Amino acid sequence: MSRPTALAIAAAVNAGSSARVAVEASLAACEADTLNAVIRVHRDRALAAADAVDARIRAGERLPLAGVPIAVKDNICITGLPATACSRILKGYIAPYTATAVARLEAAGCVVVAQTNMDELAFGSSNETSCYGPARNPVDPTRVPGGSSGGSAAVVAAGYVPVSLGSDTGGSIRQPASLCGSVGLKPTYGRVSRYGLIAYGSSLDQIGPFANNAADAEAVLRAMAGADPLDSTSAAQQMEPTPAGDALRGARIGWVEAHTEGLQAEVRAALDATKARLQAAGATLVPVTLPHERFAVSAYYIIGTGEASSNLSRMDGIRFGHRAEAADLRQIYGKSRAEGFGAEAKRRIMLGTYVLSTGYYDAYYKKAQQVRRLICQDYEQAFTTCDAILGPVSPTTAFKLGEKLSDPLQMYLSDIFTIATNLAGVPGISIPVAQDAQGLPIGMQLQGPMFSDVRLLAMARALTPQ
Ligand code: GLN
Repeated sequence: MSRPTALAIAAAVNAGSSARVAVEASLAACEADTLNAVIRVHRDRALAAADAVDARIRAGERLPLAGVPIAVKDNICITGLPATACSRILKGYIAPYTATAVARLEAAGCVVVAQTNMDELAFGSSNETSCYGPARNPVDPTRVPGGSSGGSAAVVAAGYVPVSLGSDTGGSIRQPASLCGSVGLKPTYGRVSRYGLIAYGSSLDQIGPFANNAADAEAVLRAMAGADPLDSTSAAQQMEPTPAGDALRGARIGWVEAHTEGLQAEVRAALDATKARLQAAGATLVPVTLPHERFAVSAYYIIGTGEASSNLSRMDGIRFGHRAEAADLRQIYGKSRAEGFGAEAKRRIMLGTYVLSTGYYDAYYKKAQQVRRLICQDYEQAFTTCDAILGPVSPTTAFKLGEKLSDPLQMYLSDIFTIATNLAGVPGISIPVAQDAQGLPIGMQLQGPMFSDVRLLAMARALTPQ
């Protein structure tokens, strides 16, 4: 399938070619989805929106993302459309408002064509916990696309849409981007409003783009970033202009010795090759340490589950989605939640409730918050000597469906390189750099200081020439 970039589509539509035609191509691809990556296609709404874009262009407007088809993860609300986060507990829920990120993208000319599959409530790294069944990797459909934003990674890598939205709490944009071979950005915490995102861990969650190249990812980020009165954690910080010139020449790129351990041989080779490319492009490699990063997975599964258990307490069978038949209110709560949540969600709710409970709070939750602070300080220290940190995204390429499903700890460890980023709040981008012997994509990660998103994207652009 030929893949016009988002920016090429916008340029053509701004010059008078039809948004409807661009959107029709993506609708057809989404309707023919064989990967279970798409869970709902919104043909009529999309065509009406495309016609509205065409009318705006005819009236003389120019829009940064004119007529660009986009697919949206099923945990991001859009007025009048279902938003289930791929959980039975939200089946039947229709969003009464639109997420700020989506509203801004639509104002910039983007057209939502479909909603994408994901791990239930964003819990997972393989898209296998979805109540709609697993999505598949477009490069090898016997393998997972990664998760939790597996559908959003797959639809871009498969060429159905040039760009999509995911959310990243512990790696859920970067890991599937790496496994499917697309670019995926977790913006700096606060860069993008979380209003309208079904919350997992509110202090960790960020909405971000998938694209086939860094320039498209930047265009999507620019359109949706910025302060939002509806999200008090959104940041007022302005986006910098796109840097002119070569982002890698003279850049100091940190690397962490511990990130070279436990990798599939081809991932290790790709890391080494990327270091060599960076040096050839004029960057200096600087060894750095993140001494507390080894506690990141543990801290994340305390803070993340604690926040999740609290956020999900509102899903009680009364206010949203699925309601069980039962004799009294207490039973309605219990039965609705027992029927509505899948096994992984229940595991996290129980873990989270435990770490927040009296008597355990200090030993677990408070301790994890202290570790989080140390991890933040590690990054602050590292960024005094380097401009970005290079490392792997995932220790392995895409694994087989079912391979890790029965071993939650194994699954949790697949996010070992992406979780500290969220704990620190810094931005991280996954860039496709190589393939293993079976042709499966390998991504590398660049992490940067707070609000260095634009610089990271410029570095990514230099690493992935168009
Ligand atoms: N895979 C991680 C988890 O299961 C991260 C998920 C995410 O970023 N939403 O929690």
